[in-house]
Amino acid sequence: MVAAAYLAKQGKKVLVLERRDIVGGQVVTESFGDGFTVDSLHAGGTLRPDIIKHLNLASHGLVVDSVRKPFISLQADSNHLIFDANPAKAVESIKRFSEKDAANWIPFLDFMKKATQFIETANSTIMPRLPKGFNLSEGMALAELGLDLRMMGGKDMMRIIRGIPMTADEFVDEWFESDVVKAAIASLGIHGLTLGVYGAGTGYTLMHTWANRGGMSHISVQGGIGKITEALASAVKSFGGEIRLNAEVKSIQVDTYTCKGVVLFNGEEIAAKNIISAADPKHTFLSLVGAMELPPEFVWNVQSIKMRGSVAKVHLLTDGKHGIPDGTVALAPSIKYLEQAYDAAKYHSISEKPYLEVTTSASESVHPLKSVVSIHFQFAAFKLKNGDWKTEGAKVENIAIDTLAEYFPNLKSSIVNRKVITPLDLEQTYSLTEGDLNHGQIMLDQFMFMRPIPGWSNHKTPIDNLYLCGSGVHGGGGVSGASGRNVVRVLK
Ligand SMILES: Cc1cc2nc3c(=O)[nH]c(=O)nc-3n(C[C@H](O)[C@H](O)[C@H](O)COP(=O)(O)OP(=O)(O)OC[C@H]3O[C@@H](n4cnc5c(N)ncnc54)[C@H](O)[C@@H]3O)c2cc1C
Repeated sequence: MVAAAYLAKQGKKVLVLERRDIVGGQVVTESFGDGFTVDSLHAGGTLRPDIIKHLNLASHGLVVDSVRKPFISLQADSNHLIFDANPAKAVESIKRFSEKDAANWIPFLDFMKKATQFIETANSTIMPRLPKGFNLSEGMALAELGLDLRMMGGKDMMRIIRGIPMTADEFVDEWFESDVVKAAIASLGIHGLTLGVYGAGTGYTLMHTWANRGGMSHISVQGGIGKITEALASAVKSFGGEIRLNAEVKSIQVDTYTCKGVVLFNGEEIAAKNIISAADPKHTFLSLVGAMELPPEFVWNVQSIKMRGSVAKVHLLTDGKHGIPDGTVALAPSIKYLEQAYDAAKYHSISEKPYLEVTTSASESVHPLKSVVSIHFQFAAFKLKNGDWKTEGAKVENIAIDTLAEYFPNLKSSIVNRKVITPLDLEQTYSLTEGDLNHGQIMLDQFMFMRPIPGWSNHKTPIDNLYLCGSGVHGGGGVSGASGRNVVRVLK
């Protein structure tokens, strides 16, 4: 949608084809009936401010909250750790767990600001093709990124570089001593990923998630997260672009390594000079293009992309008396708890003691007193050793509710309706191969110039005029719009 808006703004003839009956992919506010309206997947966040400005999304109804709600780490004794957006208030809460950690909070925020700046600059940089096809002019961008990093000063530069391969546990251990404080922050390193806090590279993903959110908690968008993609759709149309819903692409037509157009499931053929796919790379190449049209080594590399979804989502429509505070509420009580929650994914099962992240929202369309509790659930392996996702959704729902009810005793009696979204639903309804919400795990061997695969990180593909954007390429995953903005710069 970001790429479409930029291209339409340049005066290009743009057609967006969306398989669902709603635009927005994972960034949608949807109804599950009876006024049960909610941000179905992604809980909060926004695009990069420069993209909002370039596309003038405010004029299309996008209003991002100016005040960030707190990040709350649940504790058994209800003495919750609250990371308020006001650093002084956060320091007061951290003090209850460690005076030393409280003193380190503001220096840590300063460092994370620099890490965010680095990641944003990296995400705006089109990665050169490495190791094959390296081109000196593309390499200049990487050199500039290195220079930006150097300009941060030796100490911060080293801290960022060292932080990339670290585990989230090691990363937070350099700053904090309280297990409670460490676990709350480290949870960002595994959010949406099939990795534990002892996994190499979760230091990087911690910085990545922090950068995408702009802090620890989600930032809210007025009217729901779907307003982001609604505003983008409105911008595309205002610039003369067209959006077609219920228009699922069955195949991308290729003739001798050049793409010619697409064929929809209804049989319609649409010719196009350029095609940009925002579907995940595995889906794009293996299903839409087809292995026969691609070089064998490339196919092998695409087949090897690690897609390992282990996220489920549980939404509860309640009478509003659940007792859960406003903000981003995490169940991440200790480092060991998080690692053990991940064990379930390793062994292809569902965590009995999951890592949860909970947000609440008013479901005003039905009744002003009703409120939706949305629970992000990890870990629930896409590939289950026992059982299958046609039946195991109920298990996830029960574990999520039982676990949360230990902290909020009124939760169960407040529930009016419920909806679970399993990893299989993520694949079938939202087109995410293996339920992987980042279109490919964000891991050290699948990031920067290795995303989606080594040698093809610059949005181009072995098929002329076929480009990639979206979470599966560098600039993704997550909601930022970076890869959509970048692809426009490489289009012929
Ligand atoms: C539960 C959950 C929690 C998350 N939490 C966070 C978070 O805290 N921070 C963060 O940064 N990110 C988070 N994410 C990830 C983030 O939402 C995604 O990375 C991002 O929205 C992906 O955007 P995209 O445009 O790349 O792809 P998508 O939103 O997946 O869009 C791809 C689009 O392509 C369409 N499509 C696919 N195949 C076809 C076809 N053949 N024909 C036509 N259309 C097709 C799909 O329907 C979809 O609309 C979360 C995601 C989930 C599910």
